[in-house]
Amino acid sequence: MSNGIDFRPCPVCEQSHGRRLWEKGALRLVQCLDCAMVYADAVPAGLASGRYYERRSYYLSPDKLDSDYTPIRFERELRLFRAWCREGTVLDVGCSTGGFLHQLRSRFPQAYEVLGADVPGPALDYAESRGLPVSRQGFPDFDSSEPRFDAITFWAVMEHLERPKRFLEKAARLLKPGGHCFILVPNLRSLAVRLLGPKYRYIMAEHLNYFTPSTLRAFTTRLGDFEIVELGSSHFNPVVLWQDFWSAGTEVPDEERGRLLKRTTAWKQRPALKPLQLLYEGVERLLGFMALADNLFVVLRRKS
Ligand SMILES: [Zn+2]
Repeated sequence: MSNGIDFRPCPVCEQSHGRRLWEKGALRLVQCLDCAMVYADAVPAGLASGRYYERRSYYLSPDKLDSDYTPIRFERELRLFRAWCREGTVLDVGCSTGGFLHQLRSRFPQAYEVLGADVPGPALDYAESRGLPVSRQGFPDFDSSEPRFDAITFWAVMEHLERPKRFLEKAARLLKPGGHCFILVPNLRSLAVRLLGPKYRYIMAEHLNYFTPSTLRAFTTRLGDFEIVELGSSHFNPVVLWQDFWSAGTEVPDEERGRLLKRTTAWKQRPALKPLQLLYEGVERLLGFMALADNLFVVLRRKS
């Protein structure tokens, strides 16, 4: 382990000296010596543009599509969203197949006017085929001459971006004063990462940014346009933890991830498993309280 080597600039503070942290396949993680952010040093060609995702079958496998559109899939995100935004214009950046907006629109048909944005490809085509209004323009190229959204969401997006700050700046320009920005990212301080280290499946080549509560706070407040109204930790998948604990730490095939997602979604809906379900919810709440759950979320309010 060496200190002070020059790396790719830190996506949070833009300094470029860090220390090597972990290596896993092609992924080389470094930690910024100035702000402690952990990020991938080299960005594989194609990842930054999003072209990478078009080639991947997982995003459109029938199992993934099924679970994306079940009511339970975005339950936590919806609860958080509804707590802060009851109506208005909503932009979902990185909307993929459109599962979140579909739920929002079908549950609260009168409350929201929605728009999905993502890199053009089969996932976005699918969202459109389900009747969702979508934009095929890259989010950083959106016309931001005037603020026009009440809420902008980034569900599992920021960890994929080479320059996440550009997206946050754009969101600040597009949000009306008092509007809300929602960000969900994997939690580097989760129980799973503490137990598994780089063996954890979500430490993977397509994830470039690894936030902790403090680096997420730094990332979102540095700009000066936002205040944090809620920051917390949610989601817990004990099956992933169990499987990865016994695995060799190699990449989990997309098909298997899709099947697991479908299976866990089905388990969550089985009445016979209600007692286990309550135990599970208790554990998830406890982990969330201790900031040890799988994901971190932050709700930002655009300053006037
Ligand atoms: Zn930094």
